[in-house]
Amino acid sequence: MHRYNSIIIGAGHNGLVCANYLARKGQKVLLLEASDSVGGLASVREFHPEFKTSVAHSVGYFSEKVARDLNLKAHGFNVDADLSPTIGLSTDASHVVLQGERISGVETDDEQSYGNYVRLMRRFADMVKPFWLETVPPIGNNSLPEIMSYAHLGMNMRLMGKADMREFLRILTLPMRDLMDENFDNELLKAMLSWDGLIGSKLAPRSPNHSLITLLLRMSGKAAHQVSSAGVKTLIEALHSSASASGVEIRTGVPVGEIVIGDDAEGLIAMGVKLDSGEQIEADRVISSADPKKTFLDLVGVEHLEIGFCNRIRRLRGDGYVAKLHLALKGLPEFTGLDNPDGRLMIAPDMDVIEFAYDDAKYGHCSKVPVMEIVIPSIHDETLAPAGQHVLSAHVMYVPRHLQGGWDDQAHEAYCQLLIDTLAQYAPGIREQILHHELLTPADLEREYGVTGGHWHHAELSLDQSLMMRPTYGAAQYQTPIGGLHLCGAGCHPGGGLMGGAGHNAAQEILK
Ligand SMILES: Cc1cc2nc3c(=O)[nH]c(=O)nc-3n(C[C@H](O)[C@H](O)[C@H](O)COP(=O)(O)OP(=O)(O)OC[C@H]3O[C@@H](n4cnc5c(N)ncnc54)[C@H](O)[C@@H]3O)c2cc1C
Repeated sequence: MHRYNSIIIGAGHNGLVCANYLARKGQKVLLLEASDSVGGLASVREFHPEFKTSVAHSVGYFSEKVARDLNLKAHGFNVDADLSPTIGLSTDASHVVLQGERISGVETDDEQSYGNYVRLMRRFADMVKPFWLETVPPIGNNSLPEIMSYAHLGMNMRLMGKADMREFLRILTLPMRDLMDENFDNELLKAMLSWDGLIGSKLAPRSPNHSLITLLLRMSGKAAHQVSSAGVKTLIEALHSSASASGVEIRTGVPVGEIVIGDDAEGLIAMGVKLDSGEQIEADRVISSADPKKTFLDLVGVEHLEIGFCNRIRRLRGDGYVAKLHLALKGLPEFTGLDNPDGRLMIAPDMDVIEFAYDDAKYGHCSKVPVMEIVIPSIHDETLAPAGQHVLSAHVMYVPRHLQGGWDDQAHEAYCQLLIDTLAQYAPGIREQILHHELLTPADLEREYGVTGGHWHHAELSLDQSLMMRPTYGAAQYQTPIGGLHLCGAGCHPGGGLMGGAGHNAAQEILK
C-alpha cells in the first residue's frame, strides 16, 4: 500500500496551492477530488452543449506571491494580464465606468472624490495586505514569531501616519452606506463601490461589521474594482499543471467518505482517509479543503470531537446568499449605450435596492428587483462557446439558501424569468438571443459542489468568524483538535475568493 506524507481532500484552488507548496518541499502528496475535474467552485463546467463557464467568474486579486512561487506564468497564468473595467449599468445609458483610478459618467465632484477614495483605500489595502498571507496567531501565550506577526501589522499602521491610522480605525466597522454617503453623491457609483464589500457575505449597505475588511481583501490585488482578462479557466489550468509538474498525485472522481482517526500517546490523530469506494489510504497527515462543517461533522465524525468544539462547528454561520445565472447566447448581447460589454457589468441602481434585496432574503424571499454582477467570459476565451456565440455569467446577490416554500422547479423557473426580464431592461434584445438558461441557487451549489450552505467563503466572513478565530477557535491557525489534521480551504483565514491565501498559509504552517 502507498503511504503519503500528506493527503489533501479537495482539488479546489486552495487544495491545489497547498499541495503544490508541500510537493515542492519534497513531500509525497496525494490530492483527492470528489468531482470529475479540479478547481472546485472555479472549475469550468459545460452547462449546455459546447457552452461552458465556472461558478466563480472573475479573478481580481489572486496573490502575486503565490503566482510567483508556483511559477504560474510558465503554466499560462499571468497575474499582470490586462484589466477590464467595472461598469455600473443604467437603463437610460448614463453608465458609470471605473478603470483603475479613472472614472467616467459622474459629476466633477465625484470624479475628484473617487481619486482620493481609491488612493486612501489602496493605502489601507497595502497596510493589511501582508496579513492575508500570514497565519493570524491566537490571542495569549504567544511565541516570539507570533508576537512579531502582530508587531508587523502594528508597524504597518504606524507607517501610515497618524491621520490615516485614525481614519482607518474610524471607518473599520462603518456600514458601507455611511462610507459611501460621506464620499460620493452619485447613487449608482455608491452602489457599485459598496458591492465589493458585500458580495458573498450576509451583509448589506447598512450592516456594520466586516465589509471594509472584505473590501480591502478584494483590493489587495492590482485589479481594484476591475477584473483580469487572464480568466478563471486559465488560473485553474495553470494551478493544475504546476501542481502536477511539482509531483503532486491528483485523483478525481474519488469522494472521501471518512477521515480515519486513530489514537497515540498524545491523543487522537488522523491516520489517513477512507474513500466512498471503501479504499483506504494512509498518510502522515490529512489536510482538508472541504468546508469546516463537512470536514468535522461528516468526515471526522462527532464521536471524535469534544462537545464544546462540536457545538461551535455546528453553530458556524454559512448559508450562501449568492446564486449564479448562466445563459448560452446566440451572439454578443447589446447593452443600451455600451459599445463593448467587456468587464464587470453591475445592475444595482442604488444602495436602497441592494438593501431591500437583502431584507427580502433575510426572510426567505427573492427580491423582485434583483441586483447582479455580470461578465461575459467568452469575450476573452473563445473555447467557452461555439464561434460567434457567447456565455453570460451573473452573480445574483441575496438569493436565500432556504426559500419560503422551497426551491422546486417552478420557483427556479419563475426566478430565472424575472432575472432575464431584469437583464432585458438593460439589454433589450437579450431574451431572443437565449439558447439555454440555468440558475444555480445556494442550495444547488451545496449539492453540486459539496460546499455546505453553498457559501462563497465556506463559512460567513464576519468578525466573529475571521482572523485568529476563523473558522472558530480550536480549528484556526490551520490546526485542529485532531493531531495531523489540518484545514486549508476558504473556511480558514483569510477566507474565500480566488486568492490562494488559505492554501498558501496552511502549507507554510505545516512546513514549519
Ligand atoms: C456563487 C459564487 C460565485 C463566486 N464567484 C467568485 C468570483 O467571481 N471570484 C472570486 O474570486 N471568488 C468567487 N467565489 C468564491 C470562490 O469561488 C471560493 O471562495 C473559492 O473557490 C474557494 O476555494 P477552495 O479551494 O477553498 O474551495 P472549493 O473551490 O469549494 O473547493 C473545495 C473542493 O473540495 C472538494 N471536496 C469537498 N468534499 C470532498 C470530499 N469529501 N472528497 C473529495 N473532495 C471533496 C470539492 O468537490 C471541491 O472541489 C464565488 C463563490 C460562489 C459560491
